[in-house]
Amino acid sequence: MNEHEKLTRRQLVGGLGAGLAVAAVSPVLGATDSAVTPNYPAGPVLEDPTTKYPKPPFQEQSQPWPGLVSKMNPRPDHGEKSYKGSGRLMGRKALITGGDSGMGRAAAIAYAREGADVAINYYPTEEPDAKEVVELIRAAGRKAVAIPGDLRDEAFCQKMVQDAVNALGGLDILVNNAGRQQAHQSIMDISSEQFDWTMKTNIYAPFWTIKAALPHLKPGSVIIGTTSEQAYDPTPDLYDYAQTKAATMNYVKSLAKQLGPKGIRVNGVAPGPIWTPLQVSGGASMEKLKNFGSQTVFGRPGQPAELASIYVQLAANDGSFATGAIYGSSGGAGQP
Ligand code: NAD
Ligand code: MG
Repeated sequence: MNEHEKLTRRQLVGGLGAGLAVAAVSPVLGATDSAVTPNYPAGPVLEDPTTKYPKPPFQEQSQPWPGLVSKMNPRPDHGEKSYKGSGRLMGRKALITGGDSGMGRAAAIAYAREGADVAINYYPTEEPDAKEVVELIRAAGRKAVAIPGDLRDEAFCQKMVQDAVNALGGLDILVNNAGRQQAHQSIMDISSEQFDWTMKTNIYAPFWTIKAALPHLKPGSVIIGTTSEQAYDPTPDLYDYAQTKAATMNYVKSLAKQLGPKGIRVNGVAPGPIWTPLQVSGGASMEKLKNFGSQTVFGRPGQPAELASIYVQLAANDGSFATGAIYGSSGGAGQP
């Protein structure tokens, strides 16, 4: 074994916990190496993405905005029972907006199980969902901080960041995930008030939040934005929303260039149709909802749990060369 191989092997053994990553490299190292042999006698079973989760048709359902996970049928999967951590974010301090439900909740559960302390922001009426997430974070043995408030208010965005920094003792992962989506068949149906609501939530709030957070972010920290396949291939009923997701994709790319030299990475996640409260509280028409996700190659919507590992990957040290990138997970469409 030459020096390079020894180093690589040492790094692999020292740097990786048990799990899939080890399973992936073990053939190179030799199956008899007990230090790296994963503790999965049979390995995780193969899961067929076409049958893994519920398919349309879905029951008609509608909730007042912003909707609650507990009132959805079927209940979305955020990885509550399935996500297994392996210390990838041990000691990190994360703030996730919209952390009560959907992609934000999936990221919060995964981050906590990877060893991070997590602050979640949510709209005050989402307290029941937020409580569940706080319990899940604490059950993972990590600190949970609940910060309710309206992101359309600049002063609140500043206070949210300060509260997170104070409670966590710093900040190194910021996930701008909260979003406002209301479907309207025609541009004529969108009032200036609605348009402004969407812009304030999806564009202004990340701008204010990032400005407040930046002085606290040390080299190695990350900013992650939730964009959408809508940024690339907008549907006609999401005129205002889709353009905010294009803006998110764009700020990720410009900020990545600005902050790269400071050692701060900025990336985005672009989901396709995902089964979350946003869709049942005005995000999709009833017709669309009943067949939600049927257009994907799997014939079903995604579940928030299916994106959790992307948020982890974009935050982890071992993803250190990824910046200005959009990671997609859309069931076969979208063009990140
Ligand atoms: P979700 O309803 O679970 O999450 C959205 C969250 O945004 C809410 O939980 C709420 O806490 C927060 N929020 C909205 N307005 C707020 C305000 N004024 N103040 C404070 N919090 C506010 O739904 P989700 O689908 O998980 O949404 C998360 C992100 O994913 C959003 O940015 C959304 O645009 C994006 N997205 C969703 C889909 C999808 O199909 N569900 C697809 C692509 C992108
Ligand atoms: Mg919610």
